[in-house]
Amino acid sequence: MTASLGKMKFFLVLLFIVLAANFLAAQGLRPGANGDTTPTGHVPDAAVGTLMAAPPNNGTVVQGNGINYHGGPVLNASPVPIYIIWYGNWTNGPKPSDSQATVNLLEGFLGSNSLGGSSYEAINTTYGDNTSNVSGHLNFTAHVFDNYSAGKKFGDRTLTSIVASHVGHDLPSDATGVYLVLTSSDVNETSGFCRTYCGFHTHATINGADIKYAFIGNVDKCQSGCEIQSTGPNSPAPGVGGADGMSNVITHETEEAITDPDLNAWFDASGNEDADKCNFKFGPTQTASNGAKFNQTFGGHNWMIQMEWENSRGGGCDQTLGGPFFTN
Ligand SMILES: [Zn+2]
Repeated sequence: MTASLGKMKFFLVLLFIVLAANFLAAQGLRPGANGDTTPTGHVPDAAVGTLMAAPPNNGTVVQGNGINYHGGPVLNASPVPIYIIWYGNWTNGPKPSDSQATVNLLEGFLGSNSLGGSSYEAINTTYGDNTSNVSGHLNFTAHVFDNYSAGKKFGDRTLTSIVASHVGHDLPSDATGVYLVLTSSDVNETSGFCRTYCGFHTHATINGADIKYAFIGNVDKCQSGCEIQSTGPNSPAPGVGGADGMSNVITHETEEAITDPDLNAWFDASGNEDADKCNFKFGPTQTASNGAKFNQTFGGHNWMIQMEWENSRGGGCDQTLGGPFFTN
């Protein structure tokens, strides 16, 4: 009796995950209202919410700056909690950046006294929904380490089940936050990591909650495709730029997960979300003592992170809210 109940529970959970994953993988892109296409979150067949006509503007939604509002919610918690699933080997993985030093650096990067309160993240406050604007605050809240529970090679459906195995178990279930799955350099996300994307974000219903999550691999796996420079401002040694490179992708995906969490809020007529519109555009840089370029300083470190599209003053990529726009 106990065994068969347990078995049934297992199959119900499995069925649920399969159903959720089917929705994630099978529903293709389709043209939306106003001729817009839906954003991909960098996954060609990611889940797409039903596009709604934009509701009446209650004063919090500003349009006409090169990016459009499609009626869906944004994440407007202050701060937005960030949860990390460190997947693979983050103690002594195959590349020198698969390390505890990377864990420490990136969790500090995502702190409320670092990226989470910066004049850079404040650019995100130019986005909102009919409830309120994005706060511009985020904060690393909790992490788990996942020792290859799904092996070293998996696709999008398995990624969803990895997230589901932690949310509501050893991480809180929180529809107001963003979950990052950060993989060591020996892990391959087969839908296109290092081939067609450096990271992506999407969402899925997990145990009744709309969970927003992103995949970001250690970009030392493909320095030429996903790193702006092989030695970053925080590199512990020449060529060990994975942590700095990941900070750039994390920036991109968290901005988008906050302004377009269900893939039905903010994107332009080409389906580009706010960070896509400034992808790998950094603006003016300075040079650190180790020769690496950087364009931001906060939280006691220099960083090389892409600009974000500011939804005001006509729209453009900038390094700080209200700062000058740059095209590269
Ligand atoms: Zn993007």
